[in-house]
Amino acid sequence: MAKCIICGSSELSEKIFFDSYPLCIGVQPPELFGKVESFPLTLGSCDQCVHLQQMNPVADEHNDVLYGSENSGLLSSVSIPSKTNVGLVEAQNSFNFFKDCNLPKGKVLDIGCCDGYFLSLLKAQGYDVQGVEPNAIGDVAQKKYGIPITKDYFSAKYFEENSFDIIILRNILEHMSDANGFLEEVYKILKLGGHIFIEVPNSALSLREGHVGCFFHQHLSYFSLGTILHFLSRHSLEHVHSLEDYFMYLCVKKNVDAKPVISSNNDQLDMTHQNIDKYFEGYNRKKKDLNALLEKEDNVAFFGAGGHTTGLTYMIDEEFRKKIKFVYDNNPLKHGNFLSEIPIEVRDPKYIKSDNPDVLIISTYLHQAELLDQAQKMGVPDLKIVTVHSQVRIVNQLEGVK
Ligand SMILES: [Zn+2]
Repeated sequence: MAKCIICGSSELSEKIFFDSYPLCIGVQPPELFGKVESFPLTLGSCDQCVHLQQMNPVADEHNDVLYGSENSGLLSSVSIPSKTNVGLVEAQNSFNFFKDCNLPKGKVLDIGCCDGYFLSLLKAQGYDVQGVEPNAIGDVAQKKYGIPITKDYFSAKYFEENSFDIIILRNILEHMSDANGFLEEVYKILKLGGHIFIEVPNSALSLREGHVGCFFHQHLSYFSLGTILHFLSRHSLEHVHSLEDYFMYLCVKKNVDAKPVISSNNDQLDMTHQNIDKYFEGYNRKKKDLNALLEKEDNVAFFGAGGHTTGLTYMIDEEFRKKIKFVYDNNPLKHGNFLSEIPIEVRDPKYIKSDNPDVLIISTYLHQAELLDQAQKMGVPDLKIVTVHSQVRIVNQLEGVK
């Protein structure tokens, strides 16, 4: 029976079910198109602590297809700022928040540091940085940025206890099947009064806005600010500063006297037992709107070929998916690749004018404003341009969240 990742309760209520969802989201090279396996994806919330999570995650060996170094083709859909430019804006946003936290210069460990790009930004600021990365991409961090890397999955045994001032966990907590065990290990090597800098998808906000780029097999946990603070406070980590966008950035401090957090006390922004269904109403509303749009139109195009586009595709009824005739992206590395369920090559947006779709759906949220501007300047008179994401940004200081 499925057990809550955070509190261990076996009372989970199903909220969303996809009978078939691809193992890999975002673009795939032509040789893999139609070959990436699909599995059911079920999200449920815990009746005890509200935490939203996958109820029946796929076995680890299936995910090795994605993480294994031999499948470098699939890595084009993974964030490797130094190689593909994917994740560059995300890293910059994260770095901006990091600077706002004003953390004293000290010893930093980034767990799951990928190519070391984010650490290289901290190194340039004078922090003493090192990383942990099991994938061969960690070599880039060593060679390109001169950053020491432990090439394995993280374990406290590789490090001295109470030795780091700052530990970075970017886009990793949502992947953990034993999130409590992982955080206990991290806690051991963090100094008392040291900070953990966290980035996770803001699943509560995404759901409310009907943005589903964060739904996929590799994400086991779907946090709101309240549920992540509850989780962190179980490990004596105290909220210092956070920023909510479609990602959540949190700075928390190791404090043995930290008070337990039940929720952020903000009914508007946080999942509670009372309001959780409202979040799914947001998702269902967007799904209905999208299908109503596709029902009316015949030649539909997506602008933006990323994970969020896969999410949108799976919100569209199968009979309407055939109407997606074009997919455009500004990143030339994505051209000639494919998205799941859409048997059309990703193309350069310069073709929008000659392809002449009826509707152009801007399917990214990070670059929504610039893509909208780009599409409008193309001067295609009858082109209907649709955006699907609203702009949201909320800053929480220490006293704002109890
Ligand atoms: Zn729970």
